[in-house]
Amino acid sequence: MEPRSNNRRLVLFPLPLQGHINPMLQLANILYTKGFKITIIHTNFNSPNPSNYPQFTFKSISDGLSKSKDKSLNLETSNHVINFMNKSCIDPFAACLAKLLEVEPVACLISDALWHFTRSVADDLNLKRIVLRTSSMSCIPLYAALVLGEKNYYKTTIKEELALMTEMDIEKIYKGGLEKEKAELICNMINETKAASGIIFNTFKELEEPAFLAISQVLRIPSFAIGPFHTYFPASPSSLLDRQPVSSVVYVSFGSIAQMSEAEFTNMAWGLANSKQRFLWVVRPGSVTGSQWLELLPKGFAEEVGERGCIVKWAPQQEVLAHQAIGCFWTHNGWNSTLESICEGVPMICSPCSYDQPINARYVTDIWKIGVMLDNMEETGKTIKRVIMGKEGSEMRQRSKCLQEKVNQSLQKDGSACQSLDNLVDCILSF
Ligand code: UDP
Repeated sequence: MEPRSNNRRLVLFPLPLQGHINPMLQLANILYTKGFKITIIHTNFNSPNPSNYPQFTFKSISDGLSKSKDKSLNLETSNHVINFMNKSCIDPFAACLAKLLEVEPVACLISDALWHFTRSVADDLNLKRIVLRTSSMSCIPLYAALVLGEKNYYKTTIKEELALMTEMDIEKIYKGGLEKEKAELICNMINETKAASGIIFNTFKELEEPAFLAISQVLRIPSFAIGPFHTYFPASPSSLLDRQPVSSVVYVSFGSIAQMSEAEFTNMAWGLANSKQRFLWVVRPGSVTGSQWLELLPKGFAEEVGERGCIVKWAPQQEVLAHQAIGCFWTHNGWNSTLESICEGVPMICSPCSYDQPINARYVTDIWKIGVMLDNMEETGKTIKRVIMGKEGSEMRQRSKCLQEKVNQSLQKDGSACQSLDNLVDCILSF
């Protein structure tokens, strides 16, 4: 059924990385169900497929990357490419938005927080701007403290969380590319977010309570934590796993941009083989340096594993995690993956690579206590057994189910996420 239109149009502008495009399109769907008309402006690079979203209008802009080798986005290049696009997209984005405004009024622009250039464009066009932050809420104050050195803000709010971050965590946050470029991006994101009319988070209050206080201290703008977006459109469990026993399968996936060396890949393979547990492993083509897909799998691996393991190029992750056969998720702790695991009550084995992943992993292991950190690949087999079979694993599973219950409550009519969504809609309608 078509939602009843409130006749207001929103323009949404996702950052062209999978972990950013998915939540922006989910947010678009949520706001569509609240009656808004939706236009998505997107770069030519990594453009979404409009035929999957016939209810939205799509407009593409040039990103300046077309003829450049910068198109290969990975850990090393991502900050550089995002900084570059924050300059190269200014004119095409401004022209596209101005043209849309000639046709019809727009209630507000919702842009990814990392598109910091959109602040000046929106100001010039006299358009309200709300940002979407696709990472956890805690990530902003922790980034501000760790990367920008603004420690004094947080004496009373995220002090404990800050103390949990190890030197290795901090090293990983900086890993890849130039420190200068990472700091520039984070600094611009935080400063231009402070000038927005609001910030939307893909999280819910009960999950990150201390961050709520810190966020209002850092940003001083209205914030809306409207719950894990994907839960508004529940996935049905995939039949792929129907023949496997309950909580027996390790699901392994490191998201859409993480990269690993041949040695890391071989270690992962032997770790999975030696654990003697069932597994479903997503190996993204091109994610192992120096190979197309599975050429570097060690000799003897296939014989050792037999029918116990399955390797695929891609999996419908939400459906997989929702299946009762899944016993744990070995993850890089991208925020979407972390949330998806929490929403299905699945404990995690954490191997964060970079960005906000070490922060998310610290929350999983030390604050929510629903996973273990895997620092040493030699320990893989033992760690998998600990989580799948051990007492510790079943305690983590119980805590994870409690968090899952909290997610469900927050989405109920009087729950925090549901109320926050109502506040967001009211806020936009007041513009
Ligand atoms: N994903 C998926 N199937 C795969 C791999 C990833 O559906 O085989 C989805 C996953 O469910 C998540 C997103 O891709 O929604 C990855 O986002 P995340 O923030 O976890 O990691 P990133 O890719 O940004 O590092």
